[in-house]
Amino acid sequence: MLSTPKIGSAALVKGIAVSPGIAIGPVYLYAKVAFDVEKRIIETAALNNELTRFEDAVRRAERDLNKIISITREKLGEHSATIFEAQLLMLRDHALYPEVVSFIEKNCVNAGFAVVTVMGMHRRKMEAADSEYLRERANDLLDIQDRLIRHLRRGRILSAVDENSIVVSENLTAADIILFSRKGILGCVTDFGGPTSHVSIMARALHVPAIVSTHGVTSEVKSGDLIVLDGIRGEVIINPDEETLAHYVNKRERYSRLVQEDKAIVPLPAETLDGHHVGLQANLELREELVQLAEYGAEGIGLYRTEMALLMEGRTLVTEAEQFSQYVEVVQAALPGTTTFRILDLGGDKMLPMGNREHNPFLGWRGIRIMLDKLDLLMPQLRAMLRASAFGPVRILLPMVSSIREVRTFRSIMNQTMEDLKNEGIDFDPHVPMGVMVEVPSVALAADQFARETDFFSIGTNDLTQYVLAVDRGNDLVAHLYDELHPAVLQLIQMTTKAAKAAGISVSLCGELATNMRAIPVLLGLGVDTFSASPIYLPGMKRVIRAMRLSEGQALAKRALIASDPEEFRAVMDKWLEEHACGVSFFLDGKQTT
Ligand code: PEP
Ligand code: MG
Repeated sequence: MLSTPKIGSAALVKGIAVSPGIAIGPVYLYAKVAFDVEKRIIETAALNNELTRFEDAVRRAERDLNKIISITREKLGEHSATIFEAQLLMLRDHALYPEVVSFIEKNCVNAGFAVVTVMGMHRRKMEAADSEYLRERANDLLDIQDRLIRHLRRGRILSAVDENSIVVSENLTAADIILFSRKGILGCVTDFGGPTSHVSIMARALHVPAIVSTHGVTSEVKSGDLIVLDGIRGEVIINPDEETLAHYVNKRERYSRLVQEDKAIVPLPAETLDGHHVGLQANLELREELVQLAEYGAEGIGLYRTEMALLMEGRTLVTEAEQFSQYVEVVQAALPGTTTFRILDLGGDKMLPMGNREHNPFLGWRGIRIMLDKLDLLMPQLRAMLRASAFGPVRILLPMVSSIREVRTFRSIMNQTMEDLKNEGIDFDPHVPMGVMVEVPSVALAADQFARETDFFSIGTNDLTQYVLAVDRGNDLVAHLYDELHPAVLQLIQMTTKAAKAAGISVSLCGELATNMRAIPVLLGLGVDTFSASPIYLPGMKRVIRAMRLSEGQALAKRALIASDPEEFRAVMDKWLEEHACGVSFFLDGKQTT
């Protein structure tokens, strides 16, 4: 477990903050009942009865899910309900339902045993998959399995969760969180799960503070323990002493004030005090997140990562028609803003569809390199994106570009695809801009050349930092060396913006650095004209923009470029923030680790 042992006299457990907020309250340890389903042999004469029991349980589960779907639609909108609609379909899935029936018939066993055996087999396959998406779908299957078993036992679906408690559990499903939120829980903490899991997305959408991936919080607490859930830093403080408690009560108040103030800031323009407009767009990857565009005031989508959407069905080749319908939905939700679709960025830390393993994946077959080699992956996606451009403004973004040849090859494929669509009489926008991610140093260094042959730049500081500093972005051992504000990174950003200005193309920044409040003045000073980030951070970013003059940013940028002591300069930036936009500096002790 990644834990710092103490804060005051209290134990501290770290995890990943996936839904911001501070909650203070008693633990409700939600132990999923581990159903012990024993095998029973059923007499042939009683088999029909057993099949009826199974069918009854499926019907009851359908009833539950329909209820959850209608609550979700009402609270979160149609998009979010799709998770449960998928679960509803899984109940009668041709690979599951008939398999359970035939297992009961062939082996003359009880329905519960058949459900656990058949579903367990499918689940284990999913859990062992390379794809994070599939591993998370295994949770959906477990949820369905539990639901069926409870109904076979005629048990209650939801244990009596206490109001005003913080639910602590090994894992939660999206359905759990929907039902818990109705019970007025204060927050959730889990042992497992990742930021893109449905639980995390639901928690954010429902504004329930949440921390996942604590690797063992459930063994550190018992029901009734007082805990603090810091959903900004990703920390759980167990049985805090008085001083610590007072600190967090204060932090909770500051946070809720900030949230109120943020609401007022959403409709205001992202403009500096000297009238310089800054674009603020959203990074998204799931349709369920589309509701956040309006909620947090995004002016379109600056980065739509397609990896999740494309691996949605657990298959690698989602058809052109399926992609097209997803993309149209996204484009329409972003109107009147533009949608920037990024071509599939497989490889690196994201799985490879062909199951290849590489010794050095971040320097290997990744992003555009794969797509230009695998036209069977590229063509349906490109056609779907171009076709979606008939429904609203679309831009296409290429990941992991390192050489101008890749841009030229892609451009000629795109031109040919447009020609094909025209000949087929299919509508699209013939002026769809094509841009490159500036995330490999060669692109920043030769930005002049790239700027002449592309329509926009999007700086991916997550990768740019790892490539320029030779520090793996996901390796804890070298995390202290991963510095997005290193002068070398800033110099590459400046080279990019200069080349973009000279060529008259736009330049946005879509890496996590955009959400680092202390960096915003410097980045604007370096000439970035648009930021794209998780929607939840946009109001805070706007607050900083509205508190500064562009000239101040330019002066800070000059100093940052030559800062010989990054720590010292960090203090300069923090001081500026404290003096100009102090509400926001609240986040500095949070996720701002750079
Ligand atoms: C980046 O590299 O900064 C980026 C935005 O892309 P990703 O995090 O998907 O690699
Ligand atoms: Mg990247």
